[in-house]
Amino acid sequence: MIRTGLVSGIRPTGELHIGNYYGALKGLVELQERYDARYFIADVHSLTTHPKPDGLRGLVVETARNYLAAGLDPERCTLYAQSSVAAEVCELHAYLSMVMPLGELLRVPTFKDKAKRHPDNVNYGLVGYPVLMAADIFLVRTELVMVGEDQLVHLEVARAIARRFNQLYGDLLPEPQPLVGNAARIPSLSGQGKMSKSDDPAACIGLGDDERTVEEKTRRALSDPLRAYRHQPGHPTEDGCNVFRLHTFFTGEAEREEIAASCCEARIGCIDCKKRLAERLSGIVEPFRRRKGSIGEADALDALRLGRDKAKEAAGRTIADVRRAIGLQML
Ligand code: ATP
Ligand code: MG
Repeated sequence: MIRTGLVSGIRPTGELHIGNYYGALKGLVELQERYDARYFIADVHSLTTHPKPDGLRGLVVETARNYLAAGLDPERCTLYAQSSVAAEVCELHAYLSMVMPLGELLRVPTFKDKAKRHPDNVNYGLVGYPVLMAADIFLVRTELVMVGEDQLVHLEVARAIARRFNQLYGDLLPEPQPLVGNAARIPSLSGQGKMSKSDDPAACIGLGDDERTVEEKTRRALSDPLRAYRHQPGHPTEDGCNVFRLHTFFTGEAEREEIAASCCEARIGCIDCKKRLAERLSGIVEPFRRRKGSIGEADALDALRLGRDKAKEAAGRTIADVRRAIGLQML
């Protein structure tokens, strides 16, 4: 049976956190059963914002170990580092960049946002980020792309590129469709936005955190700013208390209702409530850590090599077709 192709990438910009697990990894494991799944670790992409990521190679290996610990089967899916097909992806990127008007790229909101946040590093690659992402997708010619909601706009760019390319050179690139991952965002422990691996690690529950670290980080999490003293009743709603908001993701309904009732009557304090959250978080992170403990660097490298070979084969075919379509293969 020929399975529909699906691609998804992750940038190795830091340690993975429980948000990545909940919002991405869990879903990718399920999807490998249904699709011809290609998962890549976007190490080339990470250079757009992290020109000197600390220990890039180590981060790629760690990301692969996390994927394997989550349950990805390198035989069943294709797990590869983007740099394994760097020559092919950069070549395709060059061709695609010439059918994409610059003005449209400069208007992409994620570009404007990143340029505003890091005005000292508005590089050429950052503007071309969606074009490189399109090259990632077209290289393995998949029909579906699993993205977070923030990446939907990049997928629109990829679709526009496919249309323009096909108009010029013939029907070669399939217009990719989005498969949006779990839209819910796990909030940061600091209460500022969502957990993000390139932000403060203290605000994220890392997938490598041991029980004590989980407890300590949770203890320091922002809770209800209006509840200064233990005897005061709290405001256990999603907007009223960041810790309660986190409970909505990880704690069952019955227990949550009981926590809310006790908090409203000041029968429990924030410390008790955070302890219970920490138990729930550790209930996810601990088994994950144990599984990861049995996966070494060598296993990750074996998986990445297997993936590299599969990805290179697909990429080689695409590049040959693209060159032929453009008319670049004269010899
Ligand atoms: P960065 O800070 O480098 O952007 P990140 O933590 O936001 O890192 P991404 O590499 O952007 O992670 O995204 C990887 C996957 O994890 C995507 O599918 C994204 O939707 C998902 N994801 C990221 N953060 C969260 C979160 N807090 N809750 C749920 N899903 C998340
Ligand atoms: Mg992100």
